[in-house]
Amino acid sequence: MKVKSNFFKSLRFRIMILLVILGIVPSVIVAGSVVRGYSDRAMELRTSNVKSQCNVLNDVFIQEDYLNHPDSEAANSQLELLANVYNGRIMLIDQDFRVIKDTYGIDEGKTILSADVIRCFQGEESSRYNQRSQFLKIAIPIGNEENSGVMLITASTTEIETTISLLEQRAFIFLGIIIALVIVLSYVLSGFLVKPFSKVTKSIEDLTDGFQSGTISVLDYTETELITDAFNKVLSRMKVLDESRQEFVSNVSHELKTPLTSMKVLADSLVGQQGVPEELYQEFMQDITAEIDRENKIITDLLSLVKMDKKAADLNISKQNINNLLEDILKRLRPIADKRNIDLILDSFRPVEADVDEVKFTLAVSNLVENGIKYNVDDGWVRVSLDADHKYFYVTVADSGMGIPEDAVERIFERFYRVDKSHSKEIGGTGLGLAITKSAIAMHHGAIKVYSKEGEGTTFSIRIPLSYILQEVPK
Ligand code: ADP
Repeated sequence: MKVKSNFFKSLRFRIMILLVILGIVPSVIVAGSVVRGYSDRAMELRTSNVKSQCNVLNDVFIQEDYLNHPDSEAANSQLELLANVYNGRIMLIDQDFRVIKDTYGIDEGKTILSADVIRCFQGEESSRYNQRSQFLKIAIPIGNEENSGVMLITASTTEIETTISLLEQRAFIFLGIIIALVIVLSYVLSGFLVKPFSKVTKSIEDLTDGFQSGTISVLDYTETELITDAFNKVLSRMKVLDESRQEFVSNVSHELKTPLTSMKVLADSLVGQQGVPEELYQEFMQDITAEIDRENKIITDLLSLVKMDKKAADLNISKQNINNLLEDILKRLRPIADKRNIDLILDSFRPVEADVDEVKFTLAVSNLVENGIKYNVDDGWVRVSLDADHKYFYVTVADSGMGIPEDAVERIFERFYRVDKSHSKEIGGTGLGLAITKSAIAMHHGAIKVYSKEGEGTTFSIRIPLSYILQEVPK
């Protein structure tokens, strides 16, 4: 199935967004603070300039006793000059809150009772900036202790505002360029950053034509290295599985053919001879029966395995006395063990009743005990023990046999896997027994473990819940 590529869901898009945020946010902050910093500084400067000019003027007022004689030429001309310089208006207010001078000449003689003026009489200067009308309003005390007043100056800030809006325009252009650049750069960079992942996909796609053809390797990032490593592991497992499957097919064909070939030879020789003595007939027919049995065994194993692949619904669960089941298994296998003088021992620690599928459970344990006999030494022993707690029952099958090499232990449950192919063929194994056992135990929601030491023996331990609860069998 081909995944439809959704750009907005991609890693590349997310990296892009991240880069855009990282690039644009600081630029906006820098541009904003430059404009704001300039505007604050310009207002501060203007205010302090106006105030210092007013202080100079105050000296003139005191000299001329202006508050009592507001018609002083020298003071008035300086007042006009200052009002012109700042393109504004100056008003002087005496102790009675009366306007004694207004450079606009509108409010002279009127009374002003504003909060700024009152505060100023209490000795507090104030300056306020009205951005909408672009004016700076300053109130400063004038005169001296005996005769004080307030000077109200309204200075225009239009030129400062013009510079600020010019600065803002520049900042906008600057931001526009930065945003465009960041978007282009983040698109290119994000593409570059996710490239190794595309490489991984491409390498995997190139492999799909045949997973036998090799491994993949993308070493650009630790992550891609990990992904490719994991993928290679899956790949090698697939290869192994595929190889063992192929090997199984050829083995099974061979195994199925061998009894057939022998039967054909035996039957041919009977058919080809005239007047065969009855004893020879008997003997050949017995041989043919043995070959049929072998053929049957292989086919039965294959069928058992296929059955184990089916769902849990095929289980035929009922309460069983496990002690009896184990006893029956050992009884059935004892004649085979006796042939090689192998001791079959059953240790039952307590009576156990559990929900099992009798046929499948018996098959699972029989396979283990049969293996214990098959891969044992003459005069050896196979010990089966049964124990239980409140939740599970435990069966162990231990033998004094040849053991399993360490590197093979992990693989013995694989279908068709046999440690020593030539040897186990002669022993009569199909490589399916443990796979069948494992599937049967899994169907009972149980677990199986193996401990083995080469040359000393092997122990399989099974744990199965006493009560069967219907649930999906974990794969
Ligand atoms: P087989 O039909 O060949 O016995 P199994 O699946 O039962 O197949 O076992 C797989 C392989 O595991 C065997 O070929 C054998 O090499 C090894 N094996 C299984 N059980 C034992 C055991 N008790 N002792 C030593 N080797 C064992």
